[in-house]
Amino acid sequence: MMRDSQAPKVPLGLFPGTFDPVTRGHLDILARGLALCDRLIVAVAEGHPKQTLFSAPERVDLIREALPGATRARVDVLAFQGLLVEFARAHGVRLVLRGLRVISDFEYEFQMALMNKRLWPEIETLFLMPGEELIYLNSTLVKEVARCGGDTSPFVTANVAEALVRRYARDQV
Ligand code: ADP
Repeated sequence: MMRDSQAPKVPLGLFPGTFDPVTRGHLDILARGLALCDRLIVAVAEGHPKQTLFSAPERVDLIREALPGATRARVDVLAFQGLLVEFARAHGVRLVLRGLRVISDFEYEFQMALMNKRLWPEIETLFLMPGEELIYLNSTLVKEVARCGGDTSPFVTANVAEALVRRYARDQV
């Protein structure tokens, strides 16, 4: 009988986002993606209309450091600008992974997936749900906890918790 880990996988998937900063929710989706794909590119949106707390190179480094050692060889973390479909095409990947937490995510995700498909009909978006305990987690809330001096370690890896403390300490000077 075939064990789960031997089931054939998609060679390459793309997990795009802002990751400002990466949380345990993102890492949960990444782990689920790695169960389905041999390799993943994490695509970090640069120059996003949203004002970010961390620069794109900082967000890339935080993700790289947060990756579990065993998965590092299968994950590339790259910043991108412009259209996701162009980045996807340039890297020869047509499977996009996105996390879906709550109903409120749905409309935005649906519009974006449809727009991407209009721009490049071969692209497919696959929505994954995180573990139940991570459903409520998002980067904005984590930043709010950090800004108010709360402990973010249940929500992010140690390198990210430390970076948040440093960033808000700096901003208060
Ligand atoms: P964006 O600004 O493009 O939505 P985010 O960094 O906020 O980027 O999120 C990237 C992806 O990770 C999105 O698909 C988002 O739904 C997903 N995600 C973020 N947090 C969680 C979580 N706690 N559980 C599941 N998916 C999540």
